[in-house]
Amino acid sequence: MQVIPRPAQWQAIRLQLIHSDQTLGLVPTMGALHQGHLDLVSRSLEKCDYTLVSIFVNPTQFNNPEDFAKYPQSLEQDLKLLEKAGVDAVFLPTVETMYPSKPRIKLDFGSLEQILEGASRPGHFNGVGIIVSKLFHMIQPDIAFFGQKDLQQVAIIQSLVRELSFPVQLEIVPTRRELDGLAMSSRNRRLSESERKQALLLYESLSDAKDLLIKGHAWEKVKKSAETLFEKEEGVTLDYFALVDQEKFELLDAYDPAKKSSLCIAAFVGEIRLIDNLPINA
Ligand code: AMP
Repeated sequence: MQVIPRPAQWQAIRLQLIHSDQTLGLVPTMGALHQGHLDLVSRSLEKCDYTLVSIFVNPTQFNNPEDFAKYPQSLEQDLKLLEKAGVDAVFLPTVETMYPSKPRIKLDFGSLEQILEGASRPGHFNGVGIIVSKLFHMIQPDIAFFGQKDLQQVAIIQSLVRELSFPVQLEIVPTRRELDGLAMSSRNRRLSESERKQALLLYESLSDAKDLLIKGHAWEKVKKSAETLFEKEEGVTLDYFALVDQEKFELLDAYDPAKKSSLCIAAFVGEIRLIDNLPINA
């Protein structure tokens, strides 16, 4: 497995891949890898001749400096996992490489970024859009792999690729969960034992709401009962609980089985902000 710190070192390999007609898969990550990341890697290994994983904790997508400072890192273990998985290369750039100067460009995703994560984390999707654009330019993948776990991010990146004509195909991989249903996340490592138990409330409330909606209960009531569940749990604060049209990524105020819809949630468990989502009829 090649470890590549700078894009200049990558260019020669990229040219060789083109000359030998090999397809390149990119899996962008922020490290602290878990099985969810490895599912993206497996999909790339299946679909592409050559797989590159990037590990970069991108400062510009953190709206909360403490969240950035405390973001989990486990580089040594990550490299072992990737080597074992059969990854061909890892791109490990420094902040100076990715940001020789502070970007002045602002990406505006319009209504897509005015709700949910965009509303709760100002500037987050601008940072995501900029880092993904930089990675696409530097690495030049044929296919890039992203997780459904970050559903709104998927909508943002689809819009980025479409509107800026990146010649990159996107592959979206389903959310990997722990046995009890908690969505895997690097941030789960920061949960205490008791918080880990409370974190299950996110998945439970999504699953309950999905069942109720399928049975025909009104969204307004379903939402209210999820909110009440969170109000009763000390140390856990709901940020949002929403129903979205999965294709347009718009908020819905009623469930319509004819529209592909997903439930989305964000909540603080202690100080840790977790997100999750569940497709209802996708
Ligand atoms: P991150 O390192 O958290 O920025 O995530 C890197 C990629 O892995 C993103 O495309 C995420 O959506 C994806 N990802 C994170 N957690 C999961 C999960 N539990 N299942 C599937 N994909 C995930």
